[in-house]
Parts: sequence; C-alpha cells; structure tokens
Amino acid sequence: MSLQPDALRSFQMCIGGEWTDALSGNTFDSLNPATGQVWAQFPDADERDVNCAVDAAHTAFHSSEWRSLTPTARGKLLRKLGDLIAENTETLAQLESIDNGKLIRETRGQVGYLPEFFYYTAGLADKIEGETLPLDKPDMMAYTIREPIGVIAAIIPWNSPLYLTAIKVAPALAAGNTVVLKPSEHASATLVELVKLAEQAGIPKGVLNVVTGFGPSTGAALTSHPLVRKIAFTGGAATARHVIRSSAENFARLSLELGGKSPQIVFADADLESAVNGIVAGIFAASGQSCVAGSRLLIHKDVYEPFITALAERAARIKIGNPQADDSEMGPMATAAQLAVVEDFVARAKADGARLRLGGKRPDMAQGWYYEPTIFECNSNADYLMQEEVFGPVAAVIPFETEEEALAMANDSNYGLAAGIWTRDIARAHRMARDVHSGIIWVNTYRAVSAMASIGGFKHSGYGRESGIDSVLEYTERKTVWINLSSEPMADPFVMR
Ligand code: NAD
Repeated sequence: MSLQPDALRSFQMCIGGEWTDALSGNTFDSLNPATGQVWAQFPDADERDVNCAVDAAHTAFHSSEWRSLTPTARGKLLRKLGDLIAENTETLAQLESIDNGKLIRETRGQVGYLPEFFYYTAGLADKIEGETLPLDKPDMMAYTIREPIGVIAAIIPWNSPLYLTAIKVAPALAAGNTVVLKPSEHASATLVELVKLAEQAGIPKGVLNVVTGFGPSTGAALTSHPLVRKIAFTGGAATARHVIRSSAENFARLSLELGGKSPQIVFADADLESAVNGIVAGIFAASGQSCVAGSRLLIHKDVYEPFITALAERAARIKIGNPQADDSEMGPMATAAQLAVVEDFVARAKADGARLRLGGKRPDMAQGWYYEPTIFECNSNADYLMQEEVFGPVAAVIPFETEEEALAMANDSNYGLAAGIWTRDIARAHRMARDVHSGIIWVNTYRAVSAMASIGGFKHSGYGRESGIDSVLEYTERKTVWINLSSEPMADPFVMR
C-alpha cells in the first residue's frame, strides 16, 4: 500500500482511551519536508488537555485493571504490540517518511527492527527482582522491592520518533508505569498510530496517552505537572535546560538524551574504504539529523589528503531526492528552520576561515528543504564548527599526528554521546575505547543499534541510559523493607537501631 502524501490527513489525540480533539478546538499543521506543503493537522493541546491526560494516566496507574496485571501479563501485552508493529511496518515507515522527510529505506529498516525493542523488553518485565540484604544487624532482615514510579512524561524529538519512543515506552510499561507521550510538533503522526496499535494490543485505557502540540505550551505543561513522576526527554540541550527547571518544581526524575559532536577517528592503518563508508553513514545518513552524527572527523596526517579526496568523491555521488523514492540516499532537512540553522553554520564556518571541500549550498531542487552533503577542513578543534552540533549534513575535518593528539581532540568537547574508531590495531582500538569520553564507542563500524545495547551520553549529551538490560530498572523505584526478627520488646526509643 502507498500513502498519498498530497491528501490532507487529520489526526486526534488519545486521552484515557478516548480519541479526541483539543478542548480549544485548535489544530496545527504538519508540513511534508519534501514539498514544504501541509499534509496533516493535529490537535493543539493546551494545559487543560495535558491535565486531562496526566489525570487519566494517574487514574490508570492506580487502577486495579493495570495494577493487578502480573509482570508476565504486561510482557505479553508488549509482545502483542511488537507483533502489531511488525504487521504495520510499511504504513508506519511511509508515515514517518512523509512526516519528517527521512528516507523510506531508513524508516523501513528502523520500523522493521522496532518490534525487537518490545519483544526484548517484554522478556524483562517479569525479571525485575529485589534483593535480600546481608545486614550487619543479627536481629534484622531487609529486602528490596522494585516498584513502578508512576506517570511518565515521554518527550520526543522529530528525527526518529518511533525508535526514540519505543526505548522509553517499552521499559516504562514493562515496569508497570503509565505514560503520557508528547511527540514533536514536526513529527507526530507515527506516535498517534503507535497508541492506536497499543489500544489494539489490549493495553488498558489511560495507560498510554498521547497529547500533540508545541514545546513551550504542551511540553512545558506536561513536564511541570505535579503528578508526573519521571520525565524521559530526548531533544536539544537548550530545551533540556527548560525541562530540568520544570522537573525541579516537583522533583520529577529525569533522563536526558541530548545531542552530540561525535568524533570519527581514522588512523593510518584503518581499512580506508570501510572508514569512508562509515563516515558517510555517520554524517550524511538521515541528512545528518541524528543525535549520534559523526560530525567531527579526525584523520591521521599520513592518509589525510587521499582520505578526504575519497570521502568527497563518495559524498558527491550521494543521490539526493524524494525520501519516498527507493533509490534516494539523502532526503531533505525535516524543517525549514533546521535548513536555516545549517545555512548559518556554513556561513560562519566560511567566515572563520574553514576551507569548503564539498557542498555548502542547497541543491537545485524545485521544492523541499534539501541541502548538499558538505565537508569543511577546519583549522583548530576549537573552531565553532568543530565544537557545536549542526544537526545537518556538515562534516568538520582536521588532521592529527599522534594517538595522544587524537584522543585529546576527541575529548575536547562539551559533548560525549558517540565515537567511531577506525584502526586495525587491536590494542589501540581498546585503548581508545577505554579513554574516549562518550556513551557509545563504535570500532570499525558506525550507527549500529540493538535492543540489547544501551545508549546515552556523557557531559552535555545528557544522563540516564536507554535500551539494554538496565532500561527497565530506570523506570522503577527501589524500596527497602526492614523486618525485626527479635521477639524482645523495643525498649529505648532514643537509640539508632
Ligand atoms: P527540541 O529540543 O527542539 O524538541 C524536543 C521535544 O521537546 C519536542 O517534542 C518539543 O516539542 C519539546 N519541547 C520544546 N520545548 C519544550 C519545553 N519548554 N518544555 C517541554 N518540552 C519542550 O529537539 P528537536 O529539534 O526536536 O531534536 C533535535 C535535538 O534532539 C538535537 O539536539 C539532537 O541531537 C537531539 N536528539 C538526541 C537523541 C539522543 O538519543 N541522544 C536522539 C535524537 C535527537
């Protein structure tokens, strides 16, 4: 089946199991990045809608329908949801491609793998265990229980909405929480569809809700709501600061998956053809709109010139085109604003004296927010382009001479999300993996993802980890239970026991 991007679609929100418009009746438009035209409308939720959604999630959290489900039964619901996603892969992939301009070949791959996150997490639901504690007090025993936290606010950006939602919603529900989902105003469609599938899977009403709208209104109302007990946020650093302030009001727990300026380090002994392809994948896939974009290229001086030449040749052959076409290799930027950000970065890099090796302009296309793959040679790791996240198809390159120099430059960044190491020297690969400050290290590969592997950042790239075996524990509270084993009466009330 093929969706018609030209037919205007209208979506609703799901609050407490009811499909609804905003109480105000207001809607907002979502634009197709390949055409710049309106393709869908969504309810513009205000504080009243958010209050209804959080109330519904809070009621569902305390309902016997949800609380009496065994962890195994919760796992079965998640498995069913994974099956339904698998059955609807093509529709979801097309919707996401139309909504955020991502290549259909990438959305098919991402949505095709999505059920694995639900299956893996479903299996964890009944393996959330407590511990008995080996106390230093002979007349006491103590054990721990892991309990769900409560209402979770999941705040999602536009670049990979389904994937970034799956790694929050699956563990949150597996642990017994309830969720209010807030998609990006630029890419809400697939998350609304996901909630429909959750309903079909039999997940009780109010357990998974979705409110659509803008960050400063809908998002801020949700993250500052007193009944929200945890905020799982993925997005930019500036927004994260607002979210941290909101969380402070109510002491809500917080996980932050933010941006990056991830280094790709190519040593002279690397398989250079693989490294070229890995670097193209890292910075030009998804038009660079990826949190793990390998945007800082550190290349050993002995291979620097031939490597940059080969990279520029390969990047110049990238087929830019309609993201819904099977043979396109790079689609548009997701928003006109993001295209303007890329153009500002390019202008500043030129003003700073960086040498343009490729791109640096929009391609000759009749419509849409496209930008060419762009490569700049920088003068210093301190350059603005080497330090700041573009979130677009712009690579900043610099040579290095020694491993120590490469390591120092790799770590000289506020960010620490991912890094690529390209070498055939196994000892060096492990040294770099140990010493580079980032949450993900890829050796002789890039952008590999698995339900079993955690993601998350160091420094300004955020805190908390998603995906992997510990992800479910991030959605639990640990409680310690003390039992007095003595049959003696408690005598002195004024001593510590
Ligand atoms: P963004 O920060 O602008 O928006 C993210 C979400 O926050 C959206 O849903 C938005 O509506 C909401 N929001 C905005 N203001 C808010 C407020 N005051 N209160 C509450 N919510 C608010 O990010 P974006 O432009 O959608 O995405 C790009 C950014 O996301 C980049 O920096 C990128 O690196 C980062 N990102 C990180 C990861 C990761 O896993 N580390 C993954 C994808 C994207």
